[in-house]
Order: sequence, then structure tokens, then C-alpha cells
Amino acid sequence: MSSGLSIRDVSFAYGSRPALTSVSLDVAPGAFCALLGPNGAGKSTLFALLTRLITTPAGQIEIAGHDLRAGPRKALARIGVVFQQPTLDLDLSVRQNLRYFAALQGLSGKQASARIDAALDRLSMRDRDREKIRALNGGHRRRTEIARALIHDPAVLLLDEPTVGLDAASRSAITAHIHDLAAEKALTILWATHLTDEVRPSDRLAILHRGRLIEDGIASDIAGAASLSDRFLTLTEAA
Ligand code: ADP
Repeated sequence: MSSGLSIRDVSFAYGSRPALTSVSLDVAPGAFCALLGPNGAGKSTLFALLTRLITTPAGQIEIAGHDLRAGPRKALARIGVVFQQPTLDLDLSVRQNLRYFAALQGLSGKQASARIDAALDRLSMRDRDREKIRALNGGHRRRTEIARALIHDPAVLLLDEPTVGLDAASRSAITAHIHDLAAEKALTILWATHLTDEVRPSDRLAILHRGRLIEDGIASDIAGAASLSDRFLTLTEAA
């Protein structure tokens, strides 16, 4: 695979406690995949492995065609990531936060400004750019984080439960933004969630439970005659 995301036979244990067991998942270049799993399924552990916060000798991960073990810097340079815990500076404005990140990525003033404007436009945040993060609600803070993750033009965007803690309106706005991003940009997206109502029937869906991938397909096919929510409950209770 020349770009996209390839996870091959990846396992990880915290001490003697397995968190992931032989997980394999391919997301084609420009494709979108929702990674659904209840709490404790292993989603954050998988994200930690994909971003090299932790490493495992078991299995292989390729990001945009770069092997994460053999060429970690090249692989990581192609990732945009939104972690579960917010990492914005509350006392800086939206634009200042993005500028700081752009500088870390080695982007110069003019180029950085253009990238920041484009990312803010994409998340409908351009008119808030002078506001301090502290003054924003949770939904707008999340949008800022997603905009920040796009500035260096990644090939793969990883989002770890980006709607956690948001009210219903912000949750649905962020969910729509993520789907739009997938449709508009040639971005490979892996989006972890534990909420079935954030998954659309036409979405590619992978279900993780107790560290194992138990389903991988189109959401409506996985749901079958049931609602996805009922099907998910049945699968995760039975597995
Ligand atoms: P999820 O993100 O789907 O909620 P996690 O990846 O956080 O799942 O957790 C997967 C499993 O690994 C759980 O059983 C959790 O208790 C365990 N776990 C997660 N982080 C640690 C850690 N730092 N030390 C020990 N066990 C952990």
C-alpha cells in the first residue's frame, strides 16, 4: 500500500494483561474508518501504538507507505492526531495555538498563515481565530484541535474519541465535520468512538472488543436488520 494505514497482526500487553491481540486493519488511501469499541476495548492503546507513544515488537504498522518501526520519523510526519485529552494552551488565542504548532512543523510565516486559514475555514472557525481558547466552549476547542492536526497536510488523520464530554449539538457538529473532511480531502481517517449514533450506515466500521477486532465492514451490513446500537450491544455482550 503506497499510502493509507496498514495494521498487521499487532498485539500489545500491559505487563501480563493483553490489551490488543492480533489486530489487523487496512484503511485505503483517502478512506474513512470508524473504530468502534466500548470502554476498555483497546482503542487508545492502538492509537498510542500508531503514534509511537508506546511500541510493540509484535506486528507491523505502515503509515502512508512508511513502516513505523523502520522509518518512524517519515511515518509520524504523515500523521495528524487529535488525542482524547485536549492539548491546547488555554491562554493563547486559536491562531496563536495554530501558529505555534506550525512553527514546530517548520512552516514559515506566509505558508503557515495560508495553511492556518485553510484549516480554520474547513472547521468553520475562521471568525473565532482571535479568541483565547479559555473563552471557547468544548465544541470549538475540539474544532481548533482538528484544525491544528491538518496544518502540516497529513496523509492520515487519527481521532481518539474527539466528541467525549461535548453536548449533543457540538457532538453532532464535530461528527459532521469529520465526515465532511473525509469526503472533501484525500485524507485517510481513523476515528475512534464508543458511540454508535456517531456512525453513519454507509461508514466503514471496525469493531474492537476486549482487544480483538470482531467486525470489519460497512456499518449497515454489520447492523443487518437490527439498529447498529442493538447489534453493537449483542456483539459486545456475546463476544
Ligand atoms: P479504550 O481506549 O478502548 O477505552 P484502552 O486502550 O484505554 O481502551 O484500554 C485497553 C485495556 O488496557 C483496558 O483493559 C485498560 O484497563 C488497559 N490499560 C490501558 N492503559 C493501561 C495502562 N497504562 N496500564 C495498564 N493497563 C492499561
